[in-house]
Amino acid sequence: MVEIQREHPAASDEAGRPDILAAVRKLIQPCIQCGTCTGSCPNEFAMDCTPRMLWRLVLRGEVDEIFNSRTFALCSSCYSCTLRCPRQLPVTEAMAALKQVAARLCPDRYRSSTAFSKTFMDSVRRHGRVNEMEFMFFYFVSRKNPLLPFRFSPMGLRLMRRGKVKMSLPGLGGNDVLAPLFRAVERLEGTP
Ligand code: SF4
Ligand code: SF4
Repeated sequence: MVEIQREHPAASDEAGRPDILAAVRKLIQPCIQCGTCTGSCPNEFAMDCTPRMLWRLVLRGEVDEIFNSRTFALCSSCYSCTLRCPRQLPVTEAMAALKQVAARLCPDRYRSSTAFSKTFMDSVRRHGRVNEMEFMFFYFVSRKNPLLPFRFSPMGLRLMRRGKVKMSLPGLGGNDVLAPLFRAVERLEGTP
């Protein structure tokens, strides 16, 4: 069980305690619990609580249950739920907001996911798509654990046998084709 530190400085609940879920709750407040997001989610089979259940927990303010769940961490931002939600709620955005709160609350627990996401997106930004070799190299360097590549090697070999991983190195410097798009999103989100 993860000990949740309620340190978020933003809003507070009725009892004056920091309300770390305020921003996420605002996004999914009109949820009618129809379950369309769960039915649309390709990763639901691996989640310990469904997206619909997660929104119920958010609305009830069940902080410990939410951050001990793997559900939001398994969201791959495919946007199926967002496209199909009958209330047109920004479901994917709410999942991303939970990831951000979790990374702030439990940095040690989510360090690996944060590094994975950052190195993946850096590669996409540089080349317009992920370059698997570059991505793996920077991810392993960021984790500073020389044994880590060995843990991933059985999966890597399986992916290579199926042609899912290309063993090609990217061109020097990348083409920065998506850089304007990334900059626009950073401006919208107010992130560096
Ligand atoms: S699809 Fe939308 S309204 Fe339905 S449960 Fe999911 S978030 Fe709520
Ligand atoms: S965006 Fe995330 S939660 Fe929504 S359907 Fe895709 S993987 Fe599931």
